[in-house]
Amino acid sequence: MSEYAQYYEAFCQGYWANENADHCRCHGGGWALSEVDTWHRCPIHGHGVPHPEDRDNELAFEDWAKANPAEHALLLAEAEATAQARLVEVEAWAFRNDDDVPF
Ligand SMILES: [Zn+2]
Repeated sequence: MSEYAQYYEAFCQGYWANENADHCRCHGGGWALSEVDTWHRCPIHGHGVPHPEDRDNELAFEDWAKANPAEHALLLAEAEATAQARLVEVEAWAFRNDDDVPF
């Protein structure tokens, strides 16, 4: 096993967690970044805390949406149209496959 793998495995065990957030590797944020750039949920502070990269994506998207309202509206309309198209498709399929329709 390489040194990195050993380090990674040890990090996964959460040995770095500490009841005191000031001394915990996650600093109370719920997630700790290891030296090999992997995120690990804190066994003490990490319950129900979303993954930091998900949170970053979410925030990045919100920032982008605020900075680009026209493009955001387009993206929304597109998503909506796709959802609508899918709904129509599903309804058509259900109608064709439903022998109990009384007309
Ligand atoms: Zn912690």
